[in-house]
Formats: sequence, structure tokens, C-alpha cells
Amino acid sequence: MFVDRDGTLNPDLHYLKESERLELFRGVGLGLRWLRDHGYRILCVTNQSGIERGFYTREDVDRIHRRVNELLRPSGAAVDAFYYCPHAPERGCGCRKPGTDLFRQAEAEWGIDLATSAIVGDRALDIEAGERLGLTTVLVTSPPTLARARRELEAAHVTPDLWAPSFAAAATRILARG
Ligand SMILES: [Mg+2]
Ligand SMILES: [Zn+2]
Repeated sequence: MFVDRDGTLNPDLHYLKESERLELFRGVGLGLRWLRDHGYRILCVTNQSGIERGFYTREDVDRIHRRVNELLRPSGAAVDAFYYCPHAPERGCGCRKPGTDLFRQAEAEWGIDLATSAIVGDRALDIEAGERLGLTTVLVTSPPTLARARRELEAAHVTPDLWAPSFAAAATRILARG
């Protein structure tokens, strides 16, 4: 099970450097616990171009990821592994979503069966990466982000398999697909 980070697990604070400012959306811990209880590994794939742009360092990003798991612990949930692209888009690397390099790496490292796996994200690039890999794609949107999501999807010519108004709802829908 692949999850995006910013805008999906936590409000997107744009080039966040200080881990103590990070908060999770309500229901994320519960949703992740359900998924893990059903045997899914939780692999977070995130674009962090702020590293190459010099806004923060790899150490800052690692600190934020430790903070995510600290915040998840009371729910009995965790992210099993984080994969991030540190590059600016101009570089044209294969690891920045919608590129699939990090997903392929995670697939190999964790023995993931892509055909039965899914991705939950808040942007068209998450859905686009998921389509390339044959994952079930789930877009999480809230009223403030719905219009942007629709515009992006149209421009990228991609369509999510499922829509959900929250992460917990996304988890419920993934588990309900049977
Ligand atoms: Mg996002
Ligand atoms: Zn990259």
C-alpha cells in the first residue's frame, strides 16, 4: 500500500523544515491501522524537492518522518518505510512522482504485489504514478482542494479509481473492494 505524504497524511505546509510543526489529519492513524491489520505494508512515497532547492536537508526530512511515526504510535499505526525524491522537477529524474522509480524500489525491497496494492494521494501526480504501475488509485480530496484536483486530473488525463473525502474513508474503500 503506497501513500503520499503532504496533503494526504498531513496538511501540506509547503517546504516544511521543522518537524515539530507537523500534524496529521484526523483519522489517518485509524485508517493506517486498519490497513496494517489487513496485512498491508505502508510505504510512503513523497516528492521533497526542497532538499535540492536548499530549503531543508535530508536530516530535516528524516526527522519529519520519525515525527510522523511518533504521532501514529498512539493509534497503533506506523509507516513501514519512507521513500523520497530530493530532486527539483527541472532535473527530470525518474524518482520524482509521477515517475515510478521509488515505487519500483519499494516493490523490490518489500515484495509488493502491485496488482493487489493501491496508492492514496491528493494530487494528479499520485494518480498518474499509480496508473502507470497498475495500482488501484484513490484520490483524497476535501472541499478546499477539490477544484484543484479536478483541474489537475483533466490536464494529466488520469482518472482515480476511487475518491474519498478523508484518509479513513480511503482506507475503508480500499478494504471494501475485496
Ligand atoms: Mg500530496
Ligand atoms: Zn528524483
